[in-house]
Amino acid sequence: MPDDMARPLIRERAGGSRHLEASMLEPSTLVIGILGTGDFSRSLARRLVASGYQVVVGSRTPARSAALFPEESEVTSQMEAANQADLVFVAVYPEHHSTLVQLKPALAGKTLVDVSNGLQIKQEGPSNAQQLADLFPESYVVKGFNTISAWTLQAGPRDGSRQVFLCSDDQNAKSSVMQLCRRMGFIPVDMGLLSSSLEIENLPLYLFPSWRTPIICALALFVFFYLYNSVRDVLYPYVTSKKNNLYKLPIEIVNVTFPCVALVMLALVYLPGLIAAFLQLWWGTKYNRFPNWLDHWLIQRKQFGLCSFLCAVLHAIYSLCLPMRKSARFQLINKAFEQVQTGRPDSWVEEEVWRMELYLSVGIMALGLLSLLAVTSLPSVANTVNWREFTFVQSTLGYCALSMATLHTLIFGWNRAFLSAQYHFYMPPTFLLVLILPLAVLLGRLALFLPCVGHRLRQIRRGWEKSRHIRFILPDDDCRNGLENVSNV
Ligand code: NAP
Repeated sequence: MPDDMARPLIRERAGGSRHLEASMLEPSTLVIGILGTGDFSRSLARRLVASGYQVVVGSRTPARSAALFPEESEVTSQMEAANQADLVFVAVYPEHHSTLVQLKPALAGKTLVDVSNGLQIKQEGPSNAQQLADLFPESYVVKGFNTISAWTLQAGPRDGSRQVFLCSDDQNAKSSVMQLCRRMGFIPVDMGLLSSSLEIENLPLYLFPSWRTPIICALALFVFFYLYNSVRDVLYPYVTSKKNNLYKLPIEIVNVTFPCVALVMLALVYLPGLIAAFLQLWWGTKYNRFPNWLDHWLIQRKQFGLCSFLCAVLHAIYSLCLPMRKSARFQLINKAFEQVQTGRPDSWVEEEVWRMELYLSVGIMALGLLSLLAVTSLPSVANTVNWREFTFVQSTLGYCALSMATLHTLIFGWNRAFLSAQYHFYMPPTFLLVLILPLAVLLGRLALFLPCVGHRLRQIRRGWEKSRHIRFILPDDDCRNGLENVSNV
């Protein structure tokens, strides 16, 4: 139990407010209140006690919950906790905030930290924190800690996310919570005014927002190429010669599908940059806003690249496992018998040997470069390189990876594109379909290397404009590329 005599004397501000100064947040002298005795409250109390703070917990039924809290903390009634505390965490669900109104006089002039999360993503306010601020107009509401789980609080910041997003309309209140946050081992991130609280409340509810399109795209490509390859390699032999190739479905077809998805996804990483460059050349200015779809695509390039990397890695693993299959062993033995029977023991075909050596070597290089891109995209690594190094890896080495992967596919195809036997059901071989996009991207990139084109693009990106007018583009709802309001300089 905290000693009453050790409790700090809080300096009264003009007007009787007990607003905390950041410099007064010495752990041993501060009493932190927590309203509510649920999971979050218990973990928070433990972390605060471990950080050296005095903790007083307010409950509707203190006797029932006291045993669940560390013995260094005090569990008492909500009113008693509100009276004793200098700064109060509101760890009750937002629908129960209104039941705390009788604490209004005790909480006046104090900082209230709203840790609540919403039930669903809200596009429009008011947020929980704003509603709490309306309920307690004489308190200083800070939004924060809602993105930290009770588990992370209990395990300590080493095991979980360390960033705590905070916002408040009162700078002093926010500073004091930021300081408290640092002492607990977290990294406070200032998100500005309380109007940002809706965004902070939505943060834990998003489900991989930037991954949705790349994943859907990768899945759609996988389904398309899997079906395409199945028709060519399983259905066609069955229809034409009653040959049962169904055994190919789990490994062989999957193995030829993954590289298709990987290559197209990698091309999709570089395509939006090219579209953006050609749009700027077409417009003759960089001040026009890109359409929304292009904006989103540009932002999601990293996710497209990581999906491509995953497919490339899976292709490599599947390929390594191919000789382990029983079917591969039986085919090998059958081939050997066939050769003995026909009296042609030497199966060495020079062209095939070269094709395979080059194919594997280029494939390994492509995978190596892709791994480098994936590692560099990790925030912890990206933070250690400067902008030039980052663009060198992501752009120059990225195009090298795309070139290598394209070459890998070209060598795989070799001369098969010219053999009519490869056009099962008049369908072109898969590698031909797959090559269309990467080759278009590589050609587009080469076009930008032409001195006249490259020079013009560099000029535009440094602010040059085709017309002497500055164009202000007013965004509209569907496409931010609509209305133009032209004014002379
Ligand atoms: P919980 O386990 O259900 O605890 C809620 C507590 O609120 C209860 O234990 C209760 O304590 C108190 N309370 C006060 N007035 C109440 C009323 N009228 N009706 C019901 N309960 C009342 O919830 P929790 O998981 O600790 O979450 C608490 C808050 O933290 C929520 O706003 C949540 O969004 C937020 N949060 C939780 C987590 C997490 O990992 N759990 C993470 C981030 C944010 P007494 O009975 O002792 O009064």
